[in-house]
Amino acid sequence: MRIEVGAVTDVGKVRERNEDSYLVEPPIYAVADGMGGHLGGEVASQLALETIEELSQAGKGTLVDQVREANRVVFERSVTDRDVAGMGTTLTLVVVGDEAVHLAHVGDSRAYLLRAGALRRLTDDHTLVNRMVKAGEISAAEAQEHPHRNVLTRALGTEPDVKVDEESVALIDADRLLLCSDGLTGMVTEDQIQAILETTASPQEAAERLVRTANRAGGIDNITVVILDVHEDGPAQAGAPTSVDAGSAVAKPRSRERRARPSRATLVRWGIRAAVAVVVLAAVVVAGRSYLDRQWYVGEANGHVAVYQGIPAEVAGFDLSHIELETDIRAADVQDLTLYGDLGQGITATDRDEALAIVEQIRSDVRSAQGTQGPTAS
Ligand code: MN
Repeated sequence: MRIEVGAVTDVGKVRERNEDSYLVEPPIYAVADGMGGHLGGEVASQLALETIEELSQAGKGTLVDQVREANRVVFERSVTDRDVAGMGTTLTLVVVGDEAVHLAHVGDSRAYLLRAGALRRLTDDHTLVNRMVKAGEISAAEAQEHPHRNVLTRALGTEPDVKVDEESVALIDADRLLLCSDGLTGMVTEDQIQAILETTASPQEAAERLVRTANRAGGIDNITVVILDVHEDGPAQAGAPTSVDAGSAVAKPRSRERRARPSRATLVRWGIRAAVAVVVLAAVVVAGRSYLDRQWYVGEANGHVAVYQGIPAEVAGFDLSHIELETDIRAADVQDLTLYGDLGQGITATDRDEALAIVEQIRSDVRSAQGTQGPTAS
């Protein structure tokens, strides 16, 4: 099995910096789309790929172990280096084996396989809109235009650990694999991608055409494309290279471009903060509601003594209590009884029964006061 490679990364037409990186280190091929203000994005994508490269060369762990370790390295850096706080990256990575390709994936970069005239997507986008599409809330077409289509649900380096999608696909002669960042798939339809892949023999030329097409469509994001052509060279082809890593003469780009708008990591964090705020607010409402439900007091309503549930206060115009029971005892009669102070401030009780007992006490006190004072009785 011989692999022929084409690879291009491009800043695009809008961004000032290129935060995408790719890796062509046979048998490893990868695309990473970094995010995070300032230098974060490019540091994240490069650090992730460098870590993978080192671990792979050292033969340490499985592919998923290596990706999780890269996640840990990027995350640790993001929490210890203020310049790159909150950074993260996508990672779509393949390792080409003897007869199959092993794929590891986090984020919304993609891998495709072109085989026998069909373009098949091998990866799932870890995005909010993809989740909504799967839940049947929006259509795939709506997802493509959604204002929050860039919000990731999973990225490398934004949490201490990460869940990694993995897959193995058996390879056959003439297979063509495409790895790309969303700067391509956000601008160019899958039909267009397929047409270019099918009509361009050289993988490097195909990668360049894809990038040009994305730029002509607007090039609003960094664009990165890696194409692998699988050649099942038989023994008859004596001239073929004996190594399995032909075509790897592509330098790794180390671009440093600034991203002008809020990064997806930032948007993800905002999303998480909003969700946490909603949960906390809901907990406060539930806890507060249950607290208020356990509070009782005796106060005044419509000139009469009444039993309230809640507390005698209001917050932002909302009463924190409601009238449970209005009695026939006139509030004016109670005001004369210094024992009860100002009824308007409420006499608190531990529960409904105690509140009712206070009412009965007030009733009997009012009666006895009226009885002894005589003149107030009619
Ligand atoms: Mn991107």
